Amino acid sequence: GGDPYNDLSKGVLRCRTVEDVLTPLDDCFMLDASAVLDFGVLASIMQSGYTRIPVYEEERSNIVDMLYLKDLAFVDPEDCTPLSTITRFYNHPLHFVFNDTKLDAVLEEFKRGKSHLAIVQKVNNEGEGDPFYEVLGLVTLEDVIEEIIKSEILDE
Ligand code: ADP
Repeated sequence: GGDPYNDLSKGVLRCRTVEDVLTPLDDCFMLDASAVLDFGVLASIMQSGYTRIPVYEEERSNIVDMLYLKDLAFVDPEDCTPLSTITRFYNHPLHFVFNDTKLDAVLEEFKRGKSHLAIVQKVNNEGEGDPFYEVLGLVTLEDVIEEIIKSEILDE
């Protein structure tokens, strides 16, 4: 009994995991930590349309920082400021979740925390060597909400 919409959302949130809804690493717009914020790089950031941009070192799977669009408010393209100057100044925390985290749990985490974006990782123990953390992609509050809305539309 109770509210059918609420029950439906809860079902979806309880069953599905962040791995079902994430944006894969290959599709993520990211920046190399060694980048310089010249006109070209700033233009590519604006064109991407994203408000939060992971920053990686050496490999895209090695995310070390987060750049927020608003961090660029006082950056002048003429100055060719190193990206690392900006990320060091703001020093936004990174949030990680495991691939099998259920959507209701990640939603609670998003509600509690300041950031509405998490990096999804899994323990990779395939292959011969030691298990290691493998980054799969990004999940945001928007991905969770989209899943709830989809389930409600399908039910009608
Ligand atoms: P934004 O605030 O940047 O528009 P949202 O949180 O609204 O981002 O998420 C919209 C969609 O974009 C989600 O599917 C999310 O996974 C994806 N997304 C967020 N940031 C990035 C990024 N840097 N590169 C690629 N996809 C992203």
